[in-house]
Amino acid sequence: MGRRVNYAKYLKEWKRRNPEKVKAYGKTYARKHAAKIRVRSKKHYEKNKAKVIARSTARNRQAYKLDSRPYIARAALYVAVKLGKIKRPKACERCGTSKHRIEGHHHKGYSKEFELDVQWLCPSCHRYADQLLEH
Ligand SMILES: [Zn+2]
Repeated sequence: MGRRVNYAKYLKEWKRRNPEKVKAYGKTYARKHAAKIRVRSKKHYEKNKAKVIARSTARNRQAYKLDSRPYIARAALYVAVKLGKIKRPKACERCGTSKHRIEGHHHKGYSKEFELDVQWLCPSCHRYADQLLEH
């Protein structure tokens, strides 16, 4: 018993000291088991729909409270596209794919002056670009 507790404690400490290793492992795991994870999370979603939606709504509301700029910038872009002021291109500016929906990436941030200054990227490039912006 005592040993197991110590090991759990040790593991926790190790994880705290090696966040980049934990992150890398998570990434490898996610890539290796992508199909399984997708099925599992879909099942979980179907079973707990209301809860999942409520949680994500709450999270969004909290994020909005902390900083509403990203929401305002996205809404402004949405309206500009709807009004035809800005045209959403068919292809990703980075990789050129036109298979997916092209999203506006706020590459200069969400401040008022740049809210319509976006790069048009596919979801995959958008995720990548967001990571670059974060680091
Ligand atoms: Zn792309």
